[in-house]
Amino acid sequence: MKLNSVPCGACGESTSKWLFDAGDYIYGNPGQWPYARCNSCGVVFMNPRISPNEIGQFYPKTYYTNELAGSSSKKPTFRNKVKQVLLSTRLGYPQVPPNGIPKAVANVLGPVLMKTPPMRRQIHWVENGRVLDVGCGNGDILDQYRALGWRTTGVEPGPESAQLARERGHSVITGLVEEIGLPSESFDAITLWDALEHIPNPAAVLSELYRLLAPQGKIYIHVPNYGSIYARLWQDRWFMFTAPLHYFHYSKATLKSLLERTGFSEIDISTGLGEVGWRQSLLSGAPENSLRRRLLSCSVVNRISNSVEQGLPDGHLTAVARKRKQTNSDK
Ligand SMILES: [Zn+2]
Repeated sequence: MKLNSVPCGACGESTSKWLFDAGDYIYGNPGQWPYARCNSCGVVFMNPRISPNEIGQFYPKTYYTNELAGSSSKKPTFRNKVKQVLLSTRLGYPQVPPNGIPKAVANVLGPVLMKTPPMRRQIHWVENGRVLDVGCGNGDILDQYRALGWRTTGVEPGPESAQLARERGHSVITGLVEEIGLPSESFDAITLWDALEHIPNPAAVLSELYRLLAPQGKIYIHVPNYGSIYARLWQDRWFMFTAPLHYFHYSKATLKSLLERTGFSEIDISTGLGEVGWRQSLLSGAPENSLRRRLLSCSVVNRISNSVEQGLPDGHLTAVARKRKQTNSDK
């Protein structure tokens, strides 16, 4: 397979420094792929890289980007009641939340619960809001947004996943968001959940999303945290490398400078709990039937590690940023 040297897709710089070759420890794709650090903005990206036209063959047929989004069920479980309180008190949703113990729990534990994966994928309420989910997968998260009152649109490059989301009644376009030409200012919120790292031309895509947002609209981005202690510890064996599916890896600093460069303001980037994958990173590259693999794969270790992992910080970044009010220079 032919690899091509490219300038940095985040800032345009033509020089970068090779770091190491990394593989895919999640889907088991073969091969090692070169990653380099941009000499200007410092972002880490595949270079030389596989052509975006050839990347499709490395994806499983139905690729679920939002499997961690949590249930969209409206069953009145305790967990859902706490969630309703958080949506109302933290994100401005108008539905009247339950009182009693769920309210007390949400009030006391709110700051921690807002850092857990299901809550980190929730967005601030907008009256009659229109949301676009980029890389919507099978539409799990769009189901949730619709249940909360949003008008939903998805864009998904994988035709099988796009069809699944369409069958759930969402407006879904198969393709790449920067090639579709959606109307300007047509969304109040745009979400990229575990999607930006798959995009080979992030500055071009974010500039296009800026155009699609209404003035004061918000973009929400969730990516693996390359600035985390786990990435530094495991380097090329960090399970989130997922080469060659991930073209880019971001830290707080490189994600912030990319958002600034593409016009966004009021940028807030935080780290969450869970989604750390330390067990998978330890497994990365362990030979079949090795003691390490057998120990880490046994169900007791699996269960303990999943529980511990939920409390570990720093694995992923969530960025929220806003489009400026329109100024004369934008026209
Ligand atoms: Zn750069």
